[in-house]
Amino acid sequence: NIWVSQDFDFFYFVQQWPGSFCDTKQSCCFPLTGKPASNFSIHGLWPNFSNGSYPSNCNSAQNPFDQSKIADLIPRAETSWPSLSCAGGKKTESNKTSSNNRRFWKHEWDKHGTCSDSILDQHAYFKASLDLKDRVDLLQILQYNGITQDGNLYSVVNITRAIKQAIGFVPGITCNTDPFDNRQLSEIYLCVDKSASNFIECPILPSGKSCTDNVEFPIF
Ligand code: 5GP
Ligand code: 5GP
Repeated sequence: NIWVSQDFDFFYFVQQWPGSFCDTKQSCCFPLTGKPASNFSIHGLWPNFSNGSYPSNCNSAQNPFDQSKIADLIPRAETSWPSLSCAGGKKTESNKTSSNNRRFWKHEWDKHGTCSDSILDQHAYFKASLDLKDRVDLLQILQYNGITQDGNLYSVVNITRAIKQAIGFVPGITCNTDPFDNRQLSEIYLCVDKSASNFIECPILPSGKSCTDNVEFPIF
């Protein structure tokens, strides 16, 4: 019922480390605009409940992704929210497969954005995500603390402490596995209030996809 305000408690703002998406058995593809910068990029802005569960695909039939609604934001999204998945990409002239940014943005809107669309319409949802990305420079925070994307191992406690010191709130850190079975830094979760404008302490940290005490920070 469209008159019922959507129900969720907070957002996870999730950023991915591209090196850890690409450095896996399944590998990755780059957008037609080329290899993304060696920087964290947006995975998504996800409505969530304080008990850890979350709504999904709330209204994609009535409010489907429409790229024309975010035309002015596309240059920022191409920089800060590239897709690295090969699924749905096109073969380029050099016979490489590209990723498909539009497909990623549509997936994120349909699955997550439609669950907060009584608060943020499509333009506001994408703008809020891009603005959050610009507010916190995770790579700079880590580098300032001697944690760099050089393929070495870093303590998750130190990663967490660096971010907490810089933004005032404890992040969630998730890991995946490289082809040699080393655990590596995959994604960083920050929590955001329902207006999508203020970072908050996480009501619950993401579970699963856990890290070992020390994790690789791969080159990209
Ligand atoms: P995975 O299975 O890789 O952990 O997550 C797959 C997808 O499930 C994510 O891309 C995201 O769409 C959704 N997801 C996983 N964990 C969470 C969570 O804690 N909160 C929300 N809102 N979505 C999640
Ligand atoms: P989620 O459901 O976890 O929010 O998003 C994961 C989905 O988005 C998967 O279907 C995945 O193939 C697609 N996807 C496209 N590009 C990317 C990317 O760069 N990173 C991640 N994590 N998923 C991507």
